[in-house]
Amino acid sequence: MPIATVNPATGETVRTFDPLDAQGVEQRIAAAESAFRSWRETDFGTRARLLDAAADLLDKERDEIARTMTTEMGKTLVAARAEAAKCAKAMRWYAARAEGLLADEHPDPADVEDSGAARAYVRYRPLGVVLAVMPWNFPLWQVVRFAAPALMAGNVGLLKHASNVPQTALYLGELFHRAGFPEGCFQTLLVGSGAIEGVLRDPRVAAATLTGSEGAGRAVASVAGDEVKKTVLELGGSDPFVVMPSAAADLDRAVQVAVTARVQNNGQSCIAAKRFIVHTDVYDDFAERFTRAMSALRVGDPTTPSTDVGPLATEQGRADLEELVDDALSRGAEALCGARRPKALPPGWYYEPTVLAGVTEAMRIHREEAFGPVATLYRVRDLGEAVALANDTPFGLSSNVWTTDEDEQRRFVRDLQAGGVFFNGMTASHPALPFGGVKRSGYGRELSEHGIREFCNTTTVWYG
Ligand code: NAP
Repeated sequence: MPIATVNPATGETVRTFDPLDAQGVEQRIAAAESAFRSWRETDFGTRARLLDAAADLLDKERDEIARTMTTEMGKTLVAARAEAAKCAKAMRWYAARAEGLLADEHPDPADVEDSGAARAYVRYRPLGVVLAVMPWNFPLWQVVRFAAPALMAGNVGLLKHASNVPQTALYLGELFHRAGFPEGCFQTLLVGSGAIEGVLRDPRVAAATLTGSEGAGRAVASVAGDEVKKTVLELGGSDPFVVMPSAAADLDRAVQVAVTARVQNNGQSCIAAKRFIVHTDVYDDFAERFTRAMSALRVGDPTTPSTDVGPLATEQGRADLEELVDDALSRGAEALCGARRPKALPPGWYYEPTVLAGVTEAMRIHREEAFGPVATLYRVRDLGEAVALANDTPFGLSSNVWTTDEDEQRRFVRDLQAGGVFFNGMTASHPALPFGGVKRSGYGRELSEHGIREFCNTTTVWYG
């Protein structure tokens, strides 16, 4: 994939970039290793001051970087601004809390004595240089949710961003540097995915985190496994959105949230609700209102404030989505709306919000992730069927359930195979809440104290 900014709203190539050569990569790895030697010794106050400075810069430059993101991957300008603001908030959250989250842990004194120690405690120490392989869909947020905790823990970062967001990638490297982080603490490697194996096998690189597709995750994790290096994988998702009869009183809100949950980021979010599993008592009502609301969305220029859904990020992404929809239609699914490119729009990679009913196991969309504004609708007779269908996917990122019945809530918490269960609302990430999946959605957690400890050496300190 060439490293280039190609505007998805027009198809125009705005700027191309030469990848770093081997010498450039070597210089950056050497700078990262050297930076780690001193960065690991800095105190939390120093790290927090610099991260707060980066947050201030990001707030000041919000409009500019939002415009860059929209040009590179097509998210609406409104959403891009919100993403930049969320990043600044997460930076401040970790700046304020990292010291507490990584404070020494003191086991029960009786257990310490039983271990034969006069004194013992646990210390979280940084691992070193961490390689971050990141996707284009939230081009600032995915990086910041790794970088903020990693830097606060005393690690340093090397960013290999997706090839279609090079300007956002370069901005991030410069942002941390301009905020005062020492040279080498956080650097962008402008390289294609073919260069990743060499970087990961370099003995100066300690670990890797990857957010992206299953294929990319498998490639990076197998090299890391061969090198016995720690990885965190945040991969795809096909989250269920279950609606039970007790939600009937709040069906309008459920529908409104369902639409947002599906089409956020032009439908290209790992935690977007993708499969809508609706109890038969409320199915007809939900299907009718949901289809009406999806059809009413305004598709168009992402820089226009009234646009709800912009273009897909890449031409290939739209082609993949069209293939999934066409496969379902050819096997008997029914399109309640959409299932085509909008007419009368400029030559960008637009696709109409789509609702498919009558989806069966024989269709690819039943098992694969639909990365665009396409919802599948299923009718179920009871909770058992809802749980079975929700779990009938290779993925397990998060889940959304609409029910006010406490017994039902307990069963969903017990039985849903996912890294999150969100009731009567929409899955969203927050710095204080762990984020990550099970099954083919990956492993490890980001955010909260769980995220900051992923790239720490949990060290037992024992005194005889
Ligand atoms: P992608 O094609 O897997 O790319 C992600 C990153 O991996 C890019 O930097 C890409 O570089 C790199 N890459 C691709 N193949 C690689 C390989 N064989 N070896 C090493 N690196 C490789 O994914 P995407 O299209 O950007 O993003 C969409 C996917 O990400 C969806 O499945 C989505 O659900 C998932 N996602 C998951 C989360 C989460 O938190 N769980 C969040 C966001 C997105 P190039 O661009 O140079 O190919």
